[in-house]
Amino acid sequence: MAKVSIGLRGWRFEESDVFAGDGSFRPLEEMPPDARQRLSRLTSLANRPCDACWLEHGEEEIERCNPAQAVYGEPMAEVLLCDEHEPDFVYWFREEGGSNHRGSDDLDDAFHEWYLDGGAAPEGYGGVAHVETDPGDLPDPEAALDATSEETDAAEDAEADADDGSEEGEEPAGIEDLDLSREYPT
Ligand SMILES: [Zn+2]
Repeated sequence: MAKVSIGLRGWRFEESDVFAGDGSFRPLEEMPPDARQRLSRLTSLANRPCDACWLEHGEEEIERCNPAQAVYGEPMAEVLLCDEHEPDFVYWFREEGGSNHRGSDDLDDAFHEWYLDGGAAPEGYGGVAHVETDPGDLPDPEAALDATSEETDAAEDAEADADDGSEEGEEPAGIEDLDLSREYPT
């Protein structure tokens, strides 16, 4: 089954979980809880700036921040990154203990703290390779992170379930408004 990214690179959806046979979105209530939660969250993350840019420039210079291209982590504790700063996050996650925060609700805070403390990927650190010209070769950040963690999916699922219902009152703004650049990995 095909996995797709929607709007931002990073979170992956089982295509059949979110799209009906004709390519339109399924009603949210028909989606599995995890997909529903992430998709709802994506609608409020659209057009948000990169976290690292934001830490550097702040709200008063928001126009200097790059728009986020990738999203890591769990809904409500996610880290948004532009292409420029994504290697910093990947480096932190792989080499600086970031993976200890995998699946936790302080992933974003922990990364922010490290970044504000001067944390950065070494010059030329590859991180996730990007191939802009061929969508078929888009990186799979989730898989890259998976490779660094022993944690089981079961633990993650339990966590996701525990998070359910925490977003009451946050109605999806309207999935139709999202920039639906669907990225197919193959
Ligand atoms: Zn950035």
